[in-house]
Amino acid sequence: MDTVESVIKAHIRTHGPMTIETFMGLALGHPQHGYYMTRDPLGVAGDFTTAPEISQLFGEMVGICLADAWLRAGAPPFHLVELGPGRGTLMADILRATKNVPAFHARMHLHLVETSPVLRAKQDEALKDYRPTWHASGDTLPDDAPLLVVANEFFDALPIRQLMLTENGLVEQVVGLEGEKLTMGLAPAPSTLLPRRVKNNEIIEISPIRETVMEGLAIRIGTQGGMLLAIDYGHDTPEPAGDTFQAVYKHRFCDPLEHVGDADLTSHVDFHALKAIAKRHGCEAYGSISQKEFLEAMGIHARYAQLNDTKLESGLMRLLDPNDMGNLFKVIAVTSSGFSPAAPSNRA
Ligand code: SAH
Repeated sequence: MDTVESVIKAHIRTHGPMTIETFMGLALGHPQHGYYMTRDPLGVAGDFTTAPEISQLFGEMVGICLADAWLRAGAPPFHLVELGPGRGTLMADILRATKNVPAFHARMHLHLVETSPVLRAKQDEALKDYRPTWHASGDTLPDDAPLLVVANEFFDALPIRQLMLTENGLVEQVVGLEGEKLTMGLAPAPSTLLPRRVKNNEIIEISPIRETVMEGLAIRIGTQGGMLLAIDYGHDTPEPAGDTFQAVYKHRFCDPLEHVGDADLTSHVDFHALKAIAKRHGCEAYGSISQKEFLEAMGIHARYAQLNDTKLESGLMRLLDPNDMGNLFKVIAVTSSGFSPAAPSNRA
């Protein structure tokens, strides 16, 4: 039987070395054999754990942020959208936290952007009472009302390219074959790919796919109204962050060329670039602020005290730990002029 590794090797034999963008796209998203297409990767038995899987408090704070912005925007009919909803846990927590916000559920239509059939089935189980509509991409979202969009650990899964300026011109990191073994190598790249002037021999990551997704959302939010809340690990500086391409297999880092199709592949999200795109399309961009700052501004400590359940303490600590998720993960908001987040409040 074919595996995604055999598909990738056959592709390289026929077409030559492939960009990391093509490699990631196939390893994660190949329609039959891709990592996300064939499994639920989350949780102890999987490869990685996300904030909503760690604690219900995470989704509750996201729900409060969305409902607050919506109320202050005049409580219009709207589409609630999640990009890459995993098991549906975050959305279930958002919906539970907002069920007593007057008219929030009555004026809402739920949309889930998900490519994985395995995860769509999980989302269906978790959210069937809310009758979601699934989409393979944001392109088919409705255009008749404001959008409230949430994306947690979605942008980091979208493919990147790695470039480097050398004395011999621009080169790109590519995946090739030596005998039967996948190897990294360098190939010449068109200089038009460079986003800006860069230092020699420094790795620059770009993600045209991520930027296209952001552009599509910003155009919609700009015209339909609404807000996008994106939470991910990444950086928010104009300087490049170097090589952040990584693979995780059963909760441990591994070489991205090992366990192909069985390891999660991600990279740090360049929030600086995403905010610039949003602003170019007429949106406001807020943040980034750290996950810790965001959750605390939304009242996570008060909610924990109210629930009065010590079983929630270790999850709370993990979400806020400044040496771990609390700082590594960042939150940005992208809005139309009628919407604004109570936090993050430091407009970019
Ligand atoms: N947001 C969830 C899951 C994060 S894992 C959580 O926080 O627990 C990444 C999610 O994005 C998965 O649901 C995966 O199937 C989905 N995904 C990855 N690439 C995608 C793509 N190109 N289009 C839509 N969904 C994608």
